[in-house]
Amino acid sequence: MKRRPHPVNFGHRFARPGDIQFFRKALIKWYAHSGRQFPWRRARASRFHQVVSEVLLQRTRAETVAAFWPTFLSRFPSWSSLAVASVEQIEAVLKPIGLSAQRAPRLKALAAAIAQRRGHFPRNREEIEALPGVGQYIANAILLFCFDQPHPLVDVNMARVIERFFGVRKLADIRYDPYLQKLTHEVVSCGKARHLNWAVLDFAATVCTIKRPLCPACPLRHSCKHPKKTNNSGSGNQSPLRHRQTHPSPS
Ligand code: SF4
Repeated sequence: MKRRPHPVNFGHRFARPGDIQFFRKALIKWYAHSGRQFPWRRARASRFHQVVSEVLLQRTRAETVAAFWPTFLSRFPSWSSLAVASVEQIEAVLKPIGLSAQRAPRLKALAAAIAQRRGHFPRNREEIEALPGVGQYIANAILLFCFDQPHPLVDVNMARVIERFFGVRKLADIRYDPYLQKLTHEVVSCGKARHLNWAVLDFAATVCTIKRPLCPACPLRHSCKHPKKTNNSGSGNQSPLRHRQTHPSPS
């Protein structure tokens, strides 16, 4: 008799390997016909394009960044062009799309560090996180795009899809929740980590949206654990954040 694989412990919760495989397969299939096309996702996109786009995409709609992308690249085509620009010059370019004032000094500091390394990123996670302006999300993006390592681009959107499908996290801060961190790493640990990351982010933006998820048309609906999964697309599908524990701030 064939034995079922045991559920895997991800911190305070378990996930069945079969659910992880189903999630991966369904989203890769969905992405093939419904994924969004962006210039930084093209096969010929450089590491500069891939990493800079992730810095710009944090808390900004991808469509907004895509519309502004040619303007940005015509002014700053490389790490060295960003490194030699003043913070005010970078701010002036970012301002029309409403990017926060903190984004310009972060970009300049990161560009100066990378230009000094002749465009090369360190391979080691600790060294990557020691670069100016690099937190957990950008470190994962660098490991994923520059070194082909399967790391998740975990933001609030990816967290929403993962939590609705597999079950909610415990801690308010997604960076410290062991369940969410381990589970997202496991989900993207496959040969198609880049595409799977993009698939989850696109799915979060167009199907499993914050207020009106399109559950009736969702390819994940039969296994989704969201308690308020809708039969008709409707509201009332917010994550139960108020029950989560807070985590001490990073020192
Ligand atoms: S069934 Fe609804 S809540 Fe569940 S993953 Fe699909 S869109 Fe999201």
